[in-house]
Amino acid sequence: MSAQDLSIDQITRSHDNLFTSVRLDRLAEHRDDPGWVRDILNSESARLVPLWRNRSLLEVSGERQQAIYLSPAELGSRGLSQPPTLLGSDGDHCFFVVSINDRQREELLATRPNARFLDLRIASIDMDARHAGMLAYAKALHYWQYRHAFCGVCGSPNRLESAGHRLVCSNEECGRRSFPRIDPAIIVLVTEGEACLLGHNGNWPPRRFSTLAGFVEPGESLEDAVVREVFEEASIRLREIHYVSSQPWPFPASAMCGFYAEAMSRDYRVSEEMTELRWFTATELDEAIAADHVRLPPPVSIAFRLIADWYRQACGGDLEPLVRGAGSWRQPGSPGR
Ligand SMILES: [Zn+2]
Repeated sequence: MSAQDLSIDQITRSHDNLFTSVRLDRLAEHRDDPGWVRDILNSESARLVPLWRNRSLLEVSGERQQAIYLSPAELGSRGLSQPPTLLGSDGDHCFFVVSINDRQREELLATRPNARFLDLRIASIDMDARHAGMLAYAKALHYWQYRHAFCGVCGSPNRLESAGHRLVCSNEECGRRSFPRIDPAIIVLVTEGEACLLGHNGNWPPRRFSTLAGFVEPGESLEDAVVREVFEEASIRLREIHYVSSQPWPFPASAMCGFYAEAMSRDYRVSEEMTELRWFTATELDEAIAADHVRLPPPVSIAFRLIADWYRQACGGDLEPLVRGAGSWRQPGSPGR
């Protein structure tokens, strides 16, 4: 399949991936204006996205999860360990991410009996895409702040600036500045003729088959990484590569860059990482899912989107109902390492 075969443009394709669906003005021009940030935080429009131990606060109702945003008054009296980080505005509200401690968590949950702090990777399977995007953005920033509490050069504590988007070493002689980190990774569906290649990684749940993926290494372009990963994991050489779409993947800090690639042949060799590899036509994939021999990653992942879009191109069918019927809907995917 070539990129031209897809009927929607690349921007729209990325927007279809979960965690990209939040439409926020990130207000970057105001981040370095503490007075402006303080006024917004004290205004009626402010909403806080709380994180406790990197878990997101959700209202659980039956099978569905709904993000909970707090007004500053709801948390204000309990105090914050560090200033809220500005996320942006959706036109109605201005959102900030805040880190809360064990005591604050208990107090919050006592007033909201259906609220839970949940792992976004699992919770996002059954939640509104817009809120999943907000929580993913909050989680990614929070993770970066937490993992870079100390300067990587001199070891002094870092302090937050720019409304939470810049860390600066508190040692004035050092003063090193650092910015949110993202690890780029490629994820690729390899095809040859009518078939696509899926692999099983020994660390995944049984019968889970997915696309090939891996981190981009220093000195590589995204395309170089696709070629290397496919050869490392399957010993397959590629004829063509097409970029498809991308997805923020805050587990913990990746940006997944999705590709289709055409193999030069169907000959492959399994690797230490991919312990089983199989070519599937659309019909074979249908049958394998129906017989529960194959379980695909959940639809929140770009891995699933790559497979589902290929499948729709191949036979006009929709994979989501098949995956739901096969009982693998709730299993967390693992499209990266
Ligand atoms: Zn330093």
